Amino acid sequence: MNSIEIEQRYGIPFCKRQALCIVRGDGNRVWDSEGREYLDFSSGWGVTSLGHCHPLIQQALKEQAGLLMQNPNSGFTYSPARAALMQRLAPQLPSPLTHMYFVNSGAEANDAAIKMARKITGRTGIVSTLRSFHGRTLNTLSASGSSAAAQLHKPWFPANRFVPYDDLPAMDSAIDAQTAAVIVEPIQGEGGIRLPDPGYLSAVQRLCRARGALLIVDEIQTGICRSGSLFAVDQCQPAVEPDMMTLGKGLGGGFPFAALLMSGACAGQVQPGDHGGTYCGNPLGCAVATAVLDYLLAENVASRVAAMGVVLGNQLARLGAEYPEIIVEQRGRGLLQALQLTDDETVQTLSEACLRQGLMLIPTRNGVLRLLPSLLVSEAEIDEAMDKLARALAAVRAREITLDCCASDSA
Ligand code: PLP
Repeated sequence: MNSIEIEQRYGIPFCKRQALCIVRGDGNRVWDSEGREYLDFSSGWGVTSLGHCHPLIQQALKEQAGLLMQNPNSGFTYSPARAALMQRLAPQLPSPLTHMYFVNSGAEANDAAIKMARKITGRTGIVSTLRSFHGRTLNTLSASGSSAAAQLHKPWFPANRFVPYDDLPAMDSAIDAQTAAVIVEPIQGEGGIRLPDPGYLSAVQRLCRARGALLIVDEIQTGICRSGSLFAVDQCQPAVEPDMMTLGKGLGGGFPFAALLMSGACAGQVQPGDHGGTYCGNPLGCAVATAVLDYLLAENVASRVAAMGVVLGNQLARLGAEYPEIIVEQRGRGLLQALQLTDDETVQTLSEACLRQGLMLIPTRNGVLRLLPSLLVSEAEIDEAMDKLARALAAVRAREITLDCCASDSA
């Protein structure tokens, strides 16, 4: 049996996979078991921030692996790798965030944030936005407003409420004396790259403060330069002051790693034993995240991302004008871009057409196709990807593609 057959035989079928076996990656390209090359504009759902197998990430992993891979007694000892990451991250955090805890996935970071908000406020309600996505634990699913999440694993936590994104009057009426926290993405990712009004988040923060609720900003998809600044909240006007913020995906550059960030006021109400986990803050993840941040900050990658985002957005808008029967709208900021297509079936057909051209994008629900290349993508690679996308669009227009690829389970 080959790898595909073995996985089909033994894997728990939580997702329908594309019939591709990817064996190697380098920069913005990956290769399958047949030797075919693909330009990767998914970056593993926004994870491989420096591209695949960046030498700095390899070096950080090798060096740390030679020193210590797992903290003895897990979190109960101090760690130079964790301290180095804290020292690197602390000066970059938006006020009033000063304290951090490292975990292994975005869902875990949000789960801990919600859990701590309930403890700190003594309330149980979470207000979230429709189309939002915050993870797949029962707690984070309960706070996710995506239509797919809505079908899963009910009943959810009963005190949670959902309001339309970027709708302040609705938010105003949802936050009450039972609300522990509002959890919100600065730009909705899984919801289809939806950008709110620049003042939305700070207005939500004001509502939270007035009602004694906490504000949790989920930067798992938008953070770490993805939207053209280290954090998407850096671009909000007036400035947003989250009580908690979560990071993931690009922070580990491919290593499973995430962070919960808190204000000093929140951290002051946390006691030992409130949260933890065997692998939390493990040295390998800390070393990689420090290497990623060192590089992003030293090379001012955020402003490069902003510039490349304009190039990519313009090219997508041009294709949108050429193919209005397929592309309804282009949206995005930085290297967080999306095409709104007519429907989900067109998303699957166009994704398959792109794969045949050697281009990987992220098929997303609600008729959306997301493009999240690595933060180091070059203009030449964007041009190459757009040539492939144009050929794929032409094939879809000419009805040369039949739907034999699978539904995505992206996030
Ligand atoms: N929050 C947001 C905004 C996300 O986009 C995702 C994943 O796509 C998550 C949370 C969950 O992160 P993870 O898949 O690492 O658990």
